[in-house]
Amino acid sequence: MIKFEQVSKTYPGGHAALKNLSFKIDKGEMIFLAGHSGAGKSTILKLIAGITKPSEGVVRLNQHVLGDLSDNHLGFLRQHIGIVFQDHKILFDRDVLANVMLPLVISGAYSKKDALKRARVAIDKVGLAGKETAMPVTLSGGEQQRLCIARAVVNQPTLLIADEPSANLDRAYALDIMELFSSFHKAGTTVVVAAHDETLMADYGHRILRLQQGRLI
Ligand code: ADP
Ligand code: ADP
Repeated sequence: MIKFEQVSKTYPGGHAALKNLSFKIDKGEMIFLAGHSGAGKSTILKLIAGITKPSEGVVRLNQHVLGDLSDNHLGFLRQHIGIVFQDHKILFDRDVLANVMLPLVISGAYSKKDALKRARVAIDKVGLAGKETAMPVTLSGGEQQRLCIARAVVNQPTLLIADEPSANLDRAYALDIMELFSSFHKAGTTVVVAAHDETLMADYGHRILRLQQGRLI
């Protein structure tokens, strides 16, 4: 589903964030990206989502070469990717339901009734049923992360990517969040999770791509 061919990424200013990476992620696979802060995990996720382009090499998503696509085409592909960002991007002036509905409203492809129904299903899947009308500020850190995950999966994406989804959470909550990603994987979604804490990945037996200073080790 995802193929990196000799990919390097140098940010403006000359910082080499990724150096000559090649790897594949199969459809239906769950995979972890591990490495210290600054190793290049977020950059890989941004390349997969087409948010940033490689400086060298090719990133393929389902045969498409991402660098060759128009913004329109990329936008279309991105509707099939659920993204859990590191910085949450929660809208704090809207309740849980409105936050989760947002991607559906933006896509314009759903009636209000349909969007509501889908949002409720996603909220239920992440264990936030009953919190639909809660304002995000009243949620715990773990619940806020669940809200982000509900919003990422509300479109029923074929690919789910998450950047440090368990950062800032106590260990038990962090493990719950990993368990939640595992449940989406079991339901058939391809899942890529970046985290610096490898002990959270130990129990699953999934592949771990380990990064060190922009290289795959
Ligand atoms: P990680 O997610 O593993 O913490 P990142 O992919 O965020 O790593 O960053 C990899 C390297 O690239 C770091 O040294 C970081 O400072 C640098 N970097 C990330 N984004 C930018 C940017 N927009 N401009 C310049 N350097 C960046
Ligand atoms: P900045 O750090 O410059 O404020 P952001 O972190 O808001 O930028 O966004 C980084 C990139 O991610 C941008 O190219 C933006 O268009 C893209 N982006 C933001 N939100 C989403 C989303 N929900 N889905 C896909 N791409 C997004």
